Amino acid sequence: MNYNKKTINDVDVRGKKVLLRCDFNVPQDKVTGEITSDKRIKAAIPTIKQLLDNGAAVIACSHLGKPVATFDGFVKKQVEKGKKAEEVTKESWEKSLRKLTLAPVAKRLSELLGQEVIFATDTIGPDAKAKAEALQPGQILLLENLRFAKGETKNDPEFAKALADMAEIFVSDAFGTVHRAHASTAGVAAYLPAYSGLLVAKEIAVMGKALENPVRPFVAILGGAKVSDKIAVINNLLEKADTIIIGGGMAYTFIKAMGHDVGTSLLEADKVDYAREMLDKAAAKGVMLLLPVDTAIHDKFENTDQFLTVDTAMMPDGYMGLDIGPKSVRLFTEAIRGAGTVIWNGPMGVFEFPAFAQGTKAIARALAESGAITIVGGGDSAAAVEQLGFADKMTHISTGGGASLEFLEGKELPGVACLLDK
Ligand code: AMP
Repeated sequence: MNYNKKTINDVDVRGKKVLLRCDFNVPQDKVTGEITSDKRIKAAIPTIKQLLDNGAAVIACSHLGKPVATFDGFVKKQVEKGKKAEEVTKESWEKSLRKLTLAPVAKRLSELLGQEVIFATDTIGPDAKAKAEALQPGQILLLENLRFAKGETKNDPEFAKALADMAEIFVSDAFGTVHRAHASTAGVAAYLPAYSGLLVAKEIAVMGKALENPVRPFVAILGGAKVSDKIAVINNLLEKADTIIIGGGMAYTFIKAMGHDVGTSLLEADKVDYAREMLDKAAAKGVMLLLPVDTAIHDKFENTDQFLTVDTAMMPDGYMGLDIGPKSVRLFTEAIRGAGTVIWNGPMGVFEFPAFAQGTKAIARALAESGAITIVGGGDSAAAVEQLGFADKMTHISTGGGASLEFLEGKELPGVACLLDK
């Protein structure tokens, strides 16, 4: 995979119409529909401003939520949820779509930019086409939710071409969707020269360097619930990293593979053989694979101050491991302290319970204080780092959970592969 891709700094956009794929998939209040965090809209501002300041006319687009683009599809979904097909009405389908309009995003974006954001009530329909046609340099248009059109997720070439026909250049700035081959993330690049925006450029540069040419020692920390979600990541990182630290619920499958009992801890019995293979592969390659040496345990899955801490090799029956213990924190922190590059994806314990958030907090602090290049994968570990106020101490916090995992798997990401090489 070539990570050396052209960015908006490599192209003259003056007087050009630019189709800009953003990630405006913002969280909304379930009842009022109000945007509950505008973080993703704010994150898009630097790229939008640079394009507008350089004289481009920007046609922004995004998906929001998971609308069902056809009435038939909507009926099928409702039936799966237990409704009777004859009870599902066109009105309820239209109502579900109205909830996912990007109109409130246009309003918030306009407030943040301090200029009008023209809104098109369709994606490639007459309103979008007319407004795109009339758009002047320095102006910005936002198209309606891309997933209202059935061609988007199917990467329909006709839909992609219709989107592309409105513009002269494509800019990809939605990292959260680059692992998907959709019309607006990859399909349009068949018809337009494609560049990365500033957000995607940073993701590719930082993570690409870590995988290709990391400052060593390169330490990867993996946690979270399931080994099965991270199999391909572990396998790929065993080729690249000097040390791999495994914590969280997934550690117990490895501890079982080492021949220890794990009580009622999270265990993927069908992955024990795989874990053993990975332990052998690490030994053969000279990669240090660190597992928790002690564990905070409790007899129920709940928050409690009454938990015990035991060595992981001596876990009693009837107890489950819910966090790494203090000796593990010391062991892991020591490895992080000497690192040149650290990638972290997944919490060290059930951090939703304050009693079992200690391990995750300690790792976040160790990264912040390490002086290494620190890259935090999206999702829970990113949330933990932000909650603790360490966000600005990290080199990079990825904006895409699924995308950053696939990146670490070494997979070719359609939304990155389609960008012009430098
Ligand atoms: P993931 O989505 O795979 O990154 O997993 C995140 C989830 O893993 C969080 O909700 C944590 O509560 C959970 N988790 C972490 N450690 C444990 C553990 N020891 N037992 C059960 N769940 C865990």
